[in-house]
Amino acid sequence: MPIQILADDVVARIAAGEAVERPASAVKELIENAIDAGATSVHIESGGGGRRLLRVSDNGSGIRPEEIELAFKRHATSKLRSAEELEALKTLGFRGEALSSLAAVSKAAVVTRHRDEAMGVRFISSAGMSGCEPIGAPAGTVVTIENLFYNTPARLKFLKNDATEKRHIHWVVARYAMAYPEVAFTLVQDGRERFRSSGSGELGDVVAKAFGLSEYKRMIAVDGYEPAGSGRAAISISGFISDPTLSRARRDRIILFVNGRAIQDSSLTHAVIQAYDGLLKERTFPLAALMITTPPDFVDVNVHPTKAEIRFRDSQQVFLALQRAVREAILDSADDETAEDLWSPSGFTDQYIHYQSLPRPWRPDDGSDLVDEQGLRYVPVTAEPSARPRTLPILRVVGQVGAAYIVAEGPAGLYLVDQNAAHERVIYQQFSQAYAENRLCSQAQAETQTVLLSPKEAQLLESIAEQLEALGFELELFGPNAFACRALPAAAMGLPLDELMTRLLDQLHGDAPSMEEVLKALAAAIAVRSGQVMSTDEMRTLIAELERCPDPLLSPTGRKVLLHLSSEQLADQFSQR
Ligand code: ADP
Ligand code: MG
Repeated sequence: MPIQILADDVVARIAAGEAVERPASAVKELIENAIDAGATSVHIESGGGGRRLLRVSDNGSGIRPEEIELAFKRHATSKLRSAEELEALKTLGFRGEALSSLAAVSKAAVVTRHRDEAMGVRFISSAGMSGCEPIGAPAGTVVTIENLFYNTPARLKFLKNDATEKRHIHWVVARYAMAYPEVAFTLVQDGRERFRSSGSGELGDVVAKAFGLSEYKRMIAVDGYEPAGSGRAAISISGFISDPTLSRARRDRIILFVNGRAIQDSSLTHAVIQAYDGLLKERTFPLAALMITTPPDFVDVNVHPTKAEIRFRDSQQVFLALQRAVREAILDSADDETAEDLWSPSGFTDQYIHYQSLPRPWRPDDGSDLVDEQGLRYVPVTAEPSARPRTLPILRVVGQVGAAYIVAEGPAGLYLVDQNAAHERVIYQQFSQAYAENRLCSQAQAETQTVLLSPKEAQLLESIAEQLEALGFELELFGPNAFACRALPAAAMGLPLDELMTRLLDQLHGDAPSMEEVLKALAAAIAVRSGQVMSTDEMRTLIAELERCPDPLLSPTGRKVLLHLSSEQLADQFSQR
């Protein structure tokens, strides 16, 4: 065959094969057009899995009668003028391919009235023929696609059964409804309403509709922001993720948007999953609807005809920002959960068993002090916890060596964590923060315990009685060198009291120790010893707590918490002879 330029209708049909893979991708294109046209309400109908009928109606700007024919030409768009504008797109469409592609593989009809026009227009395009007539219509656009892929039998063959195609359509609508909570969406499939969002502007409302109300109730809000700086772009991440007790066998409910565009990106999906490290049941995945917002010129959306794949100027930055935001949200919610657990002490979960033993904020609704019948005393929070600068990478626990060091893997290699130094840091941080914010949690002993001390210890104990009381101890002189203890800081509950006191006093030297010194001594007295075997869950919780410390690299007494071997160092070591 001699070389020839392909005829327009052949080109259009080839292009359609890329942009419109299945009925759901047609729906996606039509919804994007409605959103680009400023619609506040979008109604979607499908019949026969979308093969027989697709109809998308919107109340957007409408198309001017003199432009309607052009809209169906290939590469005809009102959204892009120059190649430079590609760098900073504000619309979802820009390729000018959807309407022409759809018309090439179906019987397409449009009824539209531009909001500045008195009269609407109907345009029909089928099998290369087209016609146009004036018609009365509400402002907005209705696009009807019938017999999709009727002239591309190969494509038709690859479509799945109706139920599958319907499910795909459903999720396209649900995704866009989440990305645009201020737009009201309805979906009717084979005459039955399948989805409706209110257009309230609240993402939570739509997530509850898309994932189900009971799922939504177990979801956690994510709200992360990283400001721009030293070559890095500002990135914000918001939305909802499931709490670690809620998961699915498939990862397809991790839904990500970048600048209002639903995207598929296995690396970013992985970032979300990794942030749950160790918290999810094995081989299960979380649910998520997360909006990633970056400056427009930080992403290249012109990678794939379906526009579902994009490229970032710095994909590592987005990966880490996403992972951090999700991780933070999980850790914060663990805090809240523990507060609830403390409220009903029977409700401790294994997962957070370690949190239970640490002082936690508690916020009664009315701001008053509360004492429940178990003797737990809740001190109202007076200050919001401060934002924590992060200086520790996200670590994944691998194991324990010598019952003293936690082996962990992080983005930059291998980490060895001294469990005793790490726990000291964590306890010190939590005590000093709780103390500074006046929200220490003290717990009454079921039975008053007594401690017998040496005269020297007893004297020292008396000299720090006031500090100990401020930290949640209730002590009383009980005879020569004997003390009764009625209450303890919640973090010290369950530890043998005489051992705790001896250790605490052992750390202190001099006559009048400062609060700071007492805090350090208390942290050292409570911290897990080296030589103590820790369960994987305990190690994970410790690492998660350490991640939250503003100064995680040193213990309060200046001991090293962490040794890092970078991947390069490891490679170096192994390549040496
Ligand atoms: P693109 O969206 O990439 O511009 P399309 O083929 O999807 O390409 O649409 C072509 C043009 O038709 C759009 O640029 C827009 O001007 C117009 N258009 C399509 N759908 C609508 C709609 N629902 N409301 C208003 N204008 C529309
Ligand atoms: Mg479009």
